[in-house]
Amino acid sequence: MKLITLPSEFQKALPILKKIKEAGYEAYFVGGSVRDVLLNRPIHDVDIATSSYPEETKAIFTRTVDLGIEHGTVLVLEGGSEYEITTFRTEDVYVDYRRPSQVSFVRSLEEDLKRRDFTVNALALDEDGVIIDKFSGLDDLKSRRLRAVGKAQDRFEEDALRIMRGFRFAATLDFTVEEKTLQAMAEQAHLLTKISVERIFIEFDKLLMSTHWRRGLELLVNAQAYQFLPDLAGQKNNLKKMMTDLQATFNFTESAQAWASLMISLDISNSKAFLKKWKTSNDFQKKVDHIVSLYRLRQKQELDKWSIYSYGKEIALLCEELRHARALEVDFSKIQALDEALAIHDKHEIVINGRYLMQELGIPAGPQLGKLLHQVEKAIVCGRLPNELPAIRKYIIEELRNE
Ligand code: ATP
Ligand code: MG
Repeated sequence: MKLITLPSEFQKALPILKKIKEAGYEAYFVGGSVRDVLLNRPIHDVDIATSSYPEETKAIFTRTVDLGIEHGTVLVLEGGSEYEITTFRTEDVYVDYRRPSQVSFVRSLEEDLKRRDFTVNALALDEDGVIIDKFSGLDDLKSRRLRAVGKAQDRFEEDALRIMRGFRFAATLDFTVEEKTLQAMAEQAHLLTKISVERIFIEFDKLLMSTHWRRGLELLVNAQAYQFLPDLAGQKNNLKKMMTDLQATFNFTESAQAWASLMISLDISNSKAFLKKWKTSNDFQKKVDHIVSLYRLRQKQELDKWSIYSYGKEIALLCEELRHARALEVDFSKIQALDEALAIHDKHEIVINGRYLMQELGIPAGPQLGKLLHQVEKAIVCGRLPNELPAIRKYIIEELRNE
């Protein structure tokens, strides 16, 4: 098969291929970008594979960065873009079901394509637009089917992350998984415990964020893979509930919302502890926790100025979208109106602060000071007190008198 016109991303990168060829080596576009062009999907990164060894690649270009040189990858900077150029390689010795313990550079494209995970990811494209398809990836692409390159069982045993990638690609590409491949994914799912949680998170997160996340999740549940993921063991029914809880066409706006939805469907009381096991950042944990907390609060009471102030408009909107997806009553304009009506959005906007109370009103540092400041903040936010010096002074003096 030959592409008549190369998409602009490839056109732009053609001089790179040509330079490598002029130096006497082979070079091809490989991996996800080739697959995505054939599927009419937007391309993100154009990866190049070459027969030149890293040092040889570096000698061809003036501006390069050693990106993952031990894995054969050199970053080339040309024409305002960056390209990852990776030497053809095999990954022969797997001892621990994850990353190869040794990569060997080879001069053959076919050897390189053989080590790739799925046939649709093992296509190469040359500078004339000719597709190199050693494993019937084009057939699979046409049938919208994910199939392991070679013997599925072995390939997942070599690197169990491929199992998660399988669920993820089924979801992002809206593909089915070929029977033997799926069977091997299920049989080898127990090896997921050997893979770093961070890498699994990335795949699971991409799955949840994809248009067809239900497909990916359903496959993951049916293959029993959840049993080997942090804090998901035994959660089959709740994971299935996540699919029925949300309206069929709903897609998540961002990761934190997706994981918050998972927390809600799984009825997790401590989201932070859950996400800590998934080794996510503190910021991410906090954001998910806020969405979940506001969601639960909103089940008990109406949104008011204080909740919008405390959680912020962004969290409130993400939360409201989840309610909408769950066919609960929503009021997006109320969030907007409450937010616009807030006298302050942050406590630093209050015209007094702790120092003022200590210096001007002689209140000593300590819990009383903190409590007073919090009262002032709440009174201002709720509209009971203007954010003005005389009014706040009067309010504090009265509060102190009442104590
Ligand atoms: P995406 O659209 O998410 O970038 P991609 O197919 O480009 O999808 P990458 O993770 O960027 O995926 O990897 C690039 C290519 O490297 C893949 O297409 C595949 O050929 C190969 N690959 C990546 N990870 C693995 C793996 N764990 N096992 C085998 N091959 C892999
Ligand atoms: Mg990619």
